[in-house]
Amino acid sequence: MNFKKNLLLIISVLLVVLSANVVMAKTYIVGTSADFPPFEYVEEGEYVGFDIELIKEIGKLKGFEVEVKDLSFDSLIPALKTGNIDIIIAAMTITEERQQVVDLSIPYYSANQSVIVREDSDKNMTVLFGNHNIGVQTGTTGDLWVTENLKDTGILKGQVKRYDTFVYVINDLINGNIDAVVLDTPVAKRYSQLRPVTIVAEIFTGEEYGIAVDKGNTELLKLINEGIEELIENGTMDKLIDKYF
Ligand code: GLN
Repeated sequence: MNFKKNLLLIISVLLVVLSANVVMAKTYIVGTSADFPPFEYVEEGEYVGFDIELIKEIGKLKGFEVEVKDLSFDSLIPALKTGNIDIIIAAMTITEERQQVVDLSIPYYSANQSVIVREDSDKNMTVLFGNHNIGVQTGTTGDLWVTENLKDTGILKGQVKRYDTFVYVINDLINGNIDAVVLDTPVAKRYSQLRPVTIVAEIFTGEEYGIAVDKGNTELLKLINEGIEELIENGTMDKLIDKYF
């Protein structure tokens, strides 16, 4: 073999190895509930938001690609358990109940709950008491707070109306079908800029968001935790916060 042939051989071997590597770059299916601006929402047919960019940045650092799947919030954990998705990023609060079934990352954002009403209503925080109907998204910490603190105690005499998606909750609030909605403060703030709704109270629940993987998937959890730490250290986290909040 002459030098030229040898070189060609080496180059083709290299190309095969390289393309194999490209093919092998893992793609994880990331489940979210894209009705929660500015964390996850749809813009011009694309899934965008703080969470979506965050998981993509983690993937860039840790060598994986992501494909986003939009599900209702309360079907995210079941989808993770059945292997339909690999990761959840959905402004998901780290709670003991959730930690019993999935593994959650280190916290990446903090939030409280807020109460919103129609902009033109004269209601205040007493909308949470008596004969009012309160809307929540099924399975959220807002749902849990209203159920445990208002409904189960009898403080709220009206209904707790549960919805699959916040799009319908907000529409029902604007249409007058419900009197108030309880949801995470950063999202309440964003909806109050986008829609004719206003915040009348904040409930200091002191929640922290984490990214979920299936229980025991320690390898992926480690990549995600390292990714969050590195993004905090290299300033990307602050840039994302500035961009979305
Ligand atoms: N942070 C809330 C929870 O974990 C709401 C999340 C959401 O609706 N996407 O329940």
